[in-house]
Parts: sequence; C-alpha cells; structure tokens
Amino acid sequence: MAHPDAYFRRLSRHFGPQYWWPGRSRWEVMVGAILTQNTAWRNVELAIAELRRRHLLSRAAMLAAPVAELRAAIRSAGFQRQKARYLQALAAWVQEHHGGKLTRLFRQPTAIVRKELLALPGIGPETADSILLYAGGHASFVVDAYTVRLLSRHGEAAAQGPGDGYAAIQSWVAAGLGQDVGRLQEMHALIVATGKEFCRKSAPRCTRCPLEPLLPPAAVMLRHQPFASREA
Ligand code: SF4
Repeated sequence: MAHPDAYFRRLSRHFGPQYWWPGRSRWEVMVGAILTQNTAWRNVELAIAELRRRHLLSRAAMLAAPVAELRAAIRSAGFQRQKARYLQALAAWVQEHHGGKLTRLFRQPTAIVRKELLALPGIGPETADSILLYAGGHASFVVDAYTVRLLSRHGEAAAQGPGDGYAAIQSWVAAGLGQDVGRLQEMHALIVATGKEFCRKSAPRCTRCPLEPLLPPAAVMLRHQPFASREA
C-alpha cells in the first residue's frame, strides 16, 4: 500500500502539468462533463465547436433552441437524444433554482451541490464530481474507470471496497491529498494520462510506467502477463 502522494509525485514528475479541464467558461466545462459520457474527448471537442459555431453554447441559447437543432449540434459526441435532454435540463435548473448564476450554485457546500446535481437527469457521481471539481472548484475527486483499474491493480484497499468502491477511493485520495483543489484536479488528469499511455485495459505497460515501483510484490512478479488473464 502506498500513500496517494507517492502516486501524485511520480506521475507529476513523469507527465508534468496537465492543464485539465479545457474550457473557456465554467458552463462550457459543465457542458463538456455531460458530452464526454461514453465517448472520447475528441468527439466532445467537435461537439463544443459546433455548439459555438451555431451560437448554442450559452444556457439561454440552449434553452431557446429547438431540440432537433441541439441534437444536430452535438451529434459527434453520440447519444445526442439523451445528451440534448440532459443539457437542457441542466440549463433550466441553473436558471430556475439558482437565478441563472453559477456563482450562486457553487457557493453552496459541496454536499448540497452534489446532491442537487445527482438529482438531475443524466448526472451520475462521475459527472457530478467532474462539474464540482473543475467547474465549481470544490474538492470532490473524480473516480473514473481509469482510477478504479489502476488502484485495483495496485491492490489499494480503497479500490477493493464494496460495489465500485467510489466513495472509498474518494476518501483515500482526500486523506492523502487533502482539500487542495488544484492537486485533486491534477491527480485525476494524471491518472487519465496513465490509463491511456500505460495502464491499458488488456495489456498494461508496467515495465515502462512511472508507477511500476508502487506495484505490490505479487503484481510485480506477474507484470509481464496481461492483467485480464490474472483477474479471470
Ligand atoms: S501500467 Fe502497471 S505499473 Fe502502471 S499503473 Fe498500471 S498496473 Fe501500475
């Protein structure tokens, strides 16, 4: 078992600053958090560019637009029928419950904002925490599939909890990195970078990975074998 800070330092040294999440405004980050569900980031970039080109990126424009036009604009991100509905529901909720002001929304305590977001259609824990952490500046770590896979392979107890261990991983990271929003933002981005480059689903590249020294002994012995076969 290693301290979260050990992961952070090794990954920071290897990858450097990630400057994540890209977005020109907090609302754009929120839109991206919904559009990125079940698709690659490149597709989200295309959808956001198309929303911008059609002048549909603001909350007011999104609410006023015919839903067919909104769907057409975000087609590249997939699931456009559902995502258009989620975006309009989120925009309407900000207008109706927070006077159209994101400052008003995000100045509430983290637990309240999280609960409100989770009550909206299409927003689960990962999307809610992405919005909290990157749009709202709240210390709410994002646990995605990359995080679960990486920590499970490293035998970290937080990832072995009941269910998907979401809350346990959040607590483990918070206990190690504290409430420093900048570090939590960076930690998530670094884990994503690791997942893409090294900690792949079926063929992890442990021998080249900066986290290889943090693997538990049993995993080190097996590191040349695909993890999928070990888990079977
Ligand atoms: S690739 Fe190997 S060393 Fe790197 S994070 Fe994944 S399991 Fe750990």
